[in-house]
Amino acid sequence: MKIFAPKETDSAETRAALDPAAVKKLIALGAEVVVESGLGDRSDNPDAAFETAGATVTTDRAGLLGSADIVCRVRKPIDSEISSLKDGAIHISFLDPFNEPELIEKFAGQKTTAISLEMIPRTTLAQKMDAISSQANLAGYVSVMVAANRMNAIFPMMMTPAGTISPAKVFVIGVGVAGLQAIATAKRLGARVTAFDTREEALEQAESLGAKALRIDLGQTGSTDQGYAKEMTPEQLEIQRTEQGKICAQSDAVITTAKLFGRPAPILIKADVIAQMKHGSVIVDLAADTGGNVEGTVLGEEKVTDNGVTIIGTGNFEGAVSKHASQVLGSNFANMIDHFWDEESKGITIDLEDEIQSGCIITHGGEIVHERFKKD
Ligand code: NAD
Repeated sequence: MKIFAPKETDSAETRAALDPAAVKKLIALGAEVVVESGLGDRSDNPDAAFETAGATVTTDRAGLLGSADIVCRVRKPIDSEISSLKDGAIHISFLDPFNEPELIEKFAGQKTTAISLEMIPRTTLAQKMDAISSQANLAGYVSVMVAANRMNAIFPMMMTPAGTISPAKVFVIGVGVAGLQAIATAKRLGARVTAFDTREEALEQAESLGAKALRIDLGQTGSTDQGYAKEMTPEQLEIQRTEQGKICAQSDAVITTAKLFGRPAPILIKADVIAQMKHGSVIVDLAADTGGNVEGTVLGEEKVTDNGVTIIGTGNFEGAVSKHASQVLGSNFANMIDHFWDEESKGITIDLEDEIQSGCIITHGGEIVHERFKKD
């Protein structure tokens, strides 16, 4: 079985699907691994490191896309690269399937087994392949680093002969994987952290990390069977925004991470709240890639409002730590292939009855097979 990892083509992407450790693991299974030359250029893994790990390094991208049994990449492919995949090839990447119906059709037409990393079920068994979590964790860390870097103030309290400097006040909205890491990172830097989530269990986790939980009476909230938050009503959102606004006004940094699976993120901070925030405060919007939690966030941009609030919506925050992002992503890919590896045939067995596979395989055998994307 030949596994190919092409170089990412989007200039905004710094990560790679595989790192040398992942290559080693795949080779130990008995796979042949080929990577495109330059795959790890932006994640500090030179071609030589992939060769040492046992991969073949190639410049023949088109040839390998057409001959590989499994293609591993970070971002969804362009149309012409789907057409070149060989019949029955397995393609694993982020696919954004909710917003890409044509891409899915194209994969089906090519008889590709297209696996969407976003759709890997949130189960204990699948945790080792959960790329959403592995990347969100790093994004949470980076969000605090970025906030600290943009502020003209420090995070920890300092008692010095020249006087006492108060600790920074950080407000984390959305306490999932990214939010928890943001809290832990801000606490390690000495900030006072307040956190809010619509899920009570998330607030308890925030408290266990030393954050103060903001509790707002919103009536019924809750989560889906996958652990994601349920969408709130417009009335609930209005109450949330009002209560949160008071904390935002006192905060030096606000980190928003509230996403809704498969849907645009809710707007949690509107212009009236930003107008009350302190000069020099910073908002890092980790939900920027699904529309943003902050009114006026523009994906890929950072801006300063008239009242001196910096709003950062650059997106792909994990890409700022591309070495580790590629390490854990590579591990997710290798773990997935390993999990479904068949020792006898030295290949992956596709079984649409399997809970993990049925959760993340979108197309197979010329059809859209995933329940959520099937055409009636
Ligand atoms: P996410 O990125 O979809 O959302 C981030 C956070 O925003 C969530 O905690 C969510 O509750 C919160 N949120 C949504 N709407 C909000 C609102 N209006 N106001 C405030 N917060 C809001 O979620 P995620 O981080 O990918 O995962 C969420 C949860 O899923 C985790 O905390 C965990 O419990 C569970 N999970 C389970 C597994 C597993 O079992 N393998 C793996 C990963 C995550």
